[in-house]
Amino acid sequence: MIILVVNAGSSSLKYQLIDMKDESVIAKGNCDRIGIDGHLSHKTASGATIEEDCAFPTHAEAFERLVQALTTGECAVIKSMDEVSAVGHRVVQGAEIFTKTTLVTDEIIDKIDQLRELAPVHNHGHALAMWACRKILPDVPQVAVFDTAFHQTIPQKAFMYGFPYEDYETYHVRKYGFHGTSHRFVTAKLAEIMGKDLKDLKVISCHLGNGSSITAVQNGQSIDTTMGFTPLDGVLMGTRCGAVDPSAVTYVAGKHGFDVAQMDSYMNKKSGLLGISGKSSDFRDITAASESGDKRATLAKDMLVYDIKKDIGAYAAIMNGLDAVIFTGGIGENAPNCREEVCTNMEYLGIKIDKEVNDFKGQLRKISTPDSKVEVWVIPTNEELLIARDTLAIINQK
Ligand code: ADP
Repeated sequence: MIILVVNAGSSSLKYQLIDMKDESVIAKGNCDRIGIDGHLSHKTASGATIEEDCAFPTHAEAFERLVQALTTGECAVIKSMDEVSAVGHRVVQGAEIFTKTTLVTDEIIDKIDQLRELAPVHNHGHALAMWACRKILPDVPQVAVFDTAFHQTIPQKAFMYGFPYEDYETYHVRKYGFHGTSHRFVTAKLAEIMGKDLKDLKVISCHLGNGSSITAVQNGQSIDTTMGFTPLDGVLMGTRCGAVDPSAVTYVAGKHGFDVAQMDSYMNKKSGLLGISGKSSDFRDITAASESGDKRATLAKDMLVYDIKKDIGAYAAIMNGLDAVIFTGGIGENAPNCREEVCTNMEYLGIKIDKEVNDFKGQLRKISTPDSKVEVWVIPTNEELLIARDTLAIINQK
């Protein structure tokens, strides 16, 4: 069985073709600059590549071109799209409507599109990709996998904001949480490698990348997470400020004379590691600058580490204990210095890591010492694979 996984944004459409026999990636690529001009990057498992400027006025032309790349020419990996059993779409915002992976119908696409107010950059792009897929592959089932779905188990006392209740009812203002597919993937993997049922574990999953979120998982369910109404809340990120006093937002907007869109851009694109260091949003650059004595880069790194430590402490408190901590995402998987600093002076929580064992990048590995009460694991995430697995499970139910 072959599944096509699609991750569409407003101007890009990333894809992976996955053979579910051995869960291997047969080909992957990105249709970029949709609605601007258009560029295709395509790569097969055997190393054949396409880099080509194309005309992508809409998602439909992009989808047509990716079908062509997969089925014709030197980079073809399948004879026709008849070999593709289903298409699985990543959807950022499912709000309170979508609590689990869902088979896509016309009505579902409309509902996903209607949620665009809650995810302006993403949901409309997802809907456009689904319509394009419906037009070009009308007989292939489509499935939607939601970033927010895993967090729909968070109790109301944790997802509410202290605004007047009516605004939750009228405008749906609440914590939704994101990265759900990643947190679900790594916590399931943890239970598998520990040989335990996830329901019996208290876990804190730290997904640290350009965007970062930390999630508490108890009884196999997300019970709290650091991202909120949007992916801006929580720890300091590459270019996002993370949690701040809301009054600081209105104050800064007033001082700069920013309108709502300008303030949004300031918090999402000019803040975080970039804003603090004044140098880069990339943790590799921050680490290098810090090692060569740059004080603001060191401050940016220290702020991120501090936020993560604080959230681990908070989530251990609400779970009344802790069995395991997971590091994943670009920073979590590849930055030993970040992991080490987070786990230093955490003995009171039962966390002890082996610094030598921790000194590596990008593999699945336990980094806690044998006498550490809490197991600490680095688990590479694979959101596309979980989307493909979910998609297969849904079409097998049909
Ligand atoms: P996204 O949230 O966009 O998916 P990623 O999960 O790919 O991002 O994470 C990107 C972050 O991971 C960047 O800050 C990058 O510097 C960091 N990163 C990637 N590789 C390394 C590495 N070898 N060492 C340290 N940091 C790394």
